[in-house]
Amino acid sequence: MAAIPLRSSGDTQQRSADNGATAVLVFPSRSLPSKAPRLRLHLSPPSLVGGELAVLSRTLTDGWIAPAGPVPEQFEQAVGEAAGFAHTAAVASGTAALHLGYRVLGVERGDEVWTQSLTFVATIAPAVQMGARPRFLDVSAESWTLDPNLLEDQLQKAATKGRLPRAVVPVDLYGQPCDLDAILAVCGRWGVPVLCDSAEALGARYRDRPVGKGAALAAFSFNGNKIITAGGGGALVSDDPALIARARHLSTQAKETAPHYQHETTGYSYGLSSVLASVGLAQIGALDARVAERRRVFDRYAGALSDLPGLSLMPEPSWARSSRWLSVIQIDPKAFGTTREAVRRALEAAQIESRPVWKPLHMQPAFRGARFHGDGLSGRLFERGLCLPSGSMSAEEQDRVIDVIRGCCKG
Ligand SMILES: *Cc1c(COP(=O)(O)O)cnc(C)c1O
Repeated sequence: MAAIPLRSSGDTQQRSADNGATAVLVFPSRSLPSKAPRLRLHLSPPSLVGGELAVLSRTLTDGWIAPAGPVPEQFEQAVGEAAGFAHTAAVASGTAALHLGYRVLGVERGDEVWTQSLTFVATIAPAVQMGARPRFLDVSAESWTLDPNLLEDQLQKAATKGRLPRAVVPVDLYGQPCDLDAILAVCGRWGVPVLCDSAEALGARYRDRPVGKGAALAAFSFNGNKIITAGGGGALVSDDPALIARARHLSTQAKETAPHYQHETTGYSYGLSSVLASVGLAQIGALDARVAERRRVFDRYAGALSDLPGLSLMPEPSWARSSRWLSVIQIDPKAFGTTREAVRRALEAAQIESRPVWKPLHMQPAFRGARFHGDGLSGRLFERGLCLPSGSMSAEEQDRVIDVIRGCCKG
């Protein structure tokens, strides 16, 4: 794609995010008071909060560009506070944070790593690339996250065979916290560490605490499509200083303290640039407002759609306060009168992006041969589930989505 100059007239710049969601950067208008109406509505476009340029300009004026220095440190501090963890390593992506998590938990070739089947590929990709064998478990109907009862059954069986996983990785799906206390209780019985993939859930709460809190490690993402973005970035957090010190060491090429270059192991170039950390720093102050906004979007969909036969929305258990990163509906084709795919195509024809729920990993050719446990709820959610535009938008824009969906219902 040809380089597109940054313009400040309300133009949008389109690019593809890692996970297939199309992201659009909206540059606030400096000269024009009113924004041109957007034709295409995207799932989760990044939007600026307003302070980005000021922080960036201070960073550049001070001469800080490298993935080191005070700005990434300030960003780590801010992420730690927002996430409620004592120690944070800010890194280049959420996937990098997960990779470092697997390294510091000692995942090695041949080890098993267990996660829920219903998730984005990045949850497990780094572990598989390290030679670990994935095992996929189904999600529970109450939360669409890792089913703790199923986990308990399977850990029991694995323990009997002496083949416990090296790590269990629940996912806070679409911003919905997993049932972490139940998962920690089960994993704790056999000493299996928990790495929480909270990439989609910064700002969500589980019982009365921030999401992921209590796990050995949690990973966040600041990709362009996430609730807070640095334009790219991630963070690994823990309350164990040794784990984060080790992750930091590995993220900067595992250099030992010596005047020459000395390495006991190999690491990665995973540091977060000061330029991106500046953007993240400006954005993170808006976290609570962004979560409130996403929750309002979800509530508005719920109010306008839940009377339709065969249409239901993603549940939220009593112990969860989801960030509602994405609003997700389910379509029962019999009662609704048409399929999820027909609804998706109708939205597409109206210039509205929507996406099926994650295709379960046990159904992905990339993981052919991996074991799966469960009754297949993940697959049914994939068949019937649709993610709707969930970012900052006007009531009129959201009404466009609502009208198309209502128009599809033949039930
Ligand atoms: C976005 C995402 C990641 C990866 O984060 P990146 O910053 O894009 O590398 C990992 N897991 C889940 C569940 C995600 O949604």
